[in-house]
Amino acid sequence: MEWKKNDRIQVRIEDISQDGSGIGRLEGYTWFIKDTVIGDFVEAGIMKMKKNYGFARLNCVLEQSPCRVEPKCPVAKACGGCQLQTMDYKEQLRLKERKIYNNLKRIGGLDGLILPKGREHTENEKELSEAETKTEIVEMEPIIGMEYPWRYRNKAQFPFGKDKNGRIIYGFYAGRTHTIIENEDCLLGVEENKEILAIIRDYMKEYHIPPYDEISHTGLVRHALIRKGFTTGELMVCLVLNGQTLPQAKRLIERLKTIKGMASISYNVNTERTNVILGEKQVHLFGPGYITDFIGNVKYQISPQSFYQVNPVQTEKLYRTALEYAGLTGEETVWDLYCGIGTISLFLAQKAKKVYGVEVVPAAIEDAKQNASINGISNAEFFVGKAEEVLPEQFHNNQVYADVIVVDPPRKGCDLVCLDMIAEMAPKRVVYVSCDSATLARDVKYLREKGYEVKRVRGVDQFGWGVHVECVTLLQRVK
Ligand code: SAH
Repeated sequence: MEWKKNDRIQVRIEDISQDGSGIGRLEGYTWFIKDTVIGDFVEAGIMKMKKNYGFARLNCVLEQSPCRVEPKCPVAKACGGCQLQTMDYKEQLRLKERKIYNNLKRIGGLDGLILPKGREHTENEKELSEAETKTEIVEMEPIIGMEYPWRYRNKAQFPFGKDKNGRIIYGFYAGRTHTIIENEDCLLGVEENKEILAIIRDYMKEYHIPPYDEISHTGLVRHALIRKGFTTGELMVCLVLNGQTLPQAKRLIERLKTIKGMASISYNVNTERTNVILGEKQVHLFGPGYITDFIGNVKYQISPQSFYQVNPVQTEKLYRTALEYAGLTGEETVWDLYCGIGTISLFLAQKAKKVYGVEVVPAAIEDAKQNASINGISNAEFFVGKAEEVLPEQFHNNQVYADVIVVDPPRKGCDLVCLDMIAEMAPKRVVYVSCDSATLARDVKYLREKGYEVKRVRGVDQFGWGVHVECVTLLQRVK
């Protein structure tokens, strides 16, 4: 059949792509259709076609899948921040579990991997019997989901602008554009955002303070950065300005201070034409310049510039899983590669003899050292540099040693030199914390060739309604 742009097609959704689009097949040709879920039968209009696949826009759902839900957020489609707002949360978890499973099986060559008990297999994921598999049999542990998958983000950055009538608006940039989608209450953010943003807007109106305009590079208020310490209830507000001063700042402070938990108010100067949100200069108007929060029993001081996990509740579960997989008795020397501000290192340090953290961003290591010190942790040491450079240097010059190595790399995974070095140092266990199961699978395959076997695998959901999933894998040395 010949299709062309704007033609209508009717198709059953059978799968979900990496970026959350529904996938349907007609006559051997694959269609990607956003805002659909597995089991939907839909009508869609053709937007773009390639040789073997094409993209179509959802017109209407002819038959609803049982896992389809009404998006809670009124701007779900336009905003694009969430990719799975039409999918039941339980189904999202199953989808994420499958993604890890399929990647480890296909890319990682781990054909003895089994989905957690009670999870049905589809046609292409047929379960293998023991006799058929060439690799270790590993049953995945059930993914750790959220009890309540809303309001879980402790940080939000709202851009300010004007609509075509000159009214002050704020919200989010529509997927990959610079158009502001007005949104006064993102349902992933904290309840307080709404009131804080309204106070800022009313103050701007009253004192004629213009929002920033990207095109003409004029106006003052670019972004409002809001953070909350979930365990302490402390709130931080930082206005990012295209200018050096905030007129009538006192008025704003007075009003913001009426909100329960308000602990830090500041502004940040960013006069560059740039997409980077924060500039270098920070001016504190109220409070100590930071808020406090805890992950587990480790205390953190978070400033507007600090890196800090955005879903601290699930982060704690992720790190507890990593700690469990590390199997520490108090005697071990542990390396934590890609350690960021040392969150995992400080968790491990409480159960290990010694922890070494390695991270490429110097400011993150400054934070890591400070975090160790405010928690009275003295058995953690930190290095600035690339894991693939620091590790060989320390190994060859200082004969360092490792019982356990934990890695938590960015999405591109570990550098090959780093993996070779891990294999050479030959720790008993490697705990791989991953935010991208495709690169995890690639690295697992490599480590398996170097004498490691996969023992445990578990997904942790940190981003409900989004497509990303975290995963912890335990590899044990066998050769
Ligand atoms: N485990 C950290 C977060 C890890 S995110 C925490 O708990 O906070 C990945 C980190 O790897 C980032 O902080 C990034 O700056 C760092 N990174 C990226 N490439 C690196 C490399 N080659 N060597 C060391 N660190 C690297």
